[in-house]
Amino acid sequence: MTGADELRRRRQNEAVRIRTALNRQRGEQRANTKGGEGTVAFVEERKCIGCDQCTIVCDDDAIELYHVAMKSPLMSVESNRKARVLRDPCTGCRLCVLACPTDAITMIDR
Ligand code: SF4
Ligand code: SF4
Repeated sequence: MTGADELRRRRQNEAVRIRTALNRQRGEQRANTKGGEGTVAFVEERKCIGCDQCTIVCDDDAIELYHVAMKSPLMSVESNRKARVLRDPCTGCRLCVLACPTDAITMIDR
């Protein structure tokens, strides 16, 4: 029968395996995402869920949230937040692209 120590060991190994896989995935995404001075982030409103992750990682205060009317008839929430990028302060660092859970942000040419 599997004991508590064995379960703990398996759990730790699995955590290391998942962390390694995620880090590799992030590294590949970072390498494949263009960035730099000639680029600016762009938010596709349809995909944005207003989760605030991009504003947290943006060191340049280049993202702001605004409210839109809630379109879903299934939820009794009157408004929802969306993110938008302020072009001038955006440095093209790509951090928001990596942080966005819904892939709503892409880097475009300035
Ligand atoms: S690319 Fe960098 S500076 Fe521009 S909005 Fe995203 S996190 Fe902010
Ligand atoms: S991280 Fe993505 S989904 Fe979340 S507020 Fe920013 S653009 Fe929207």
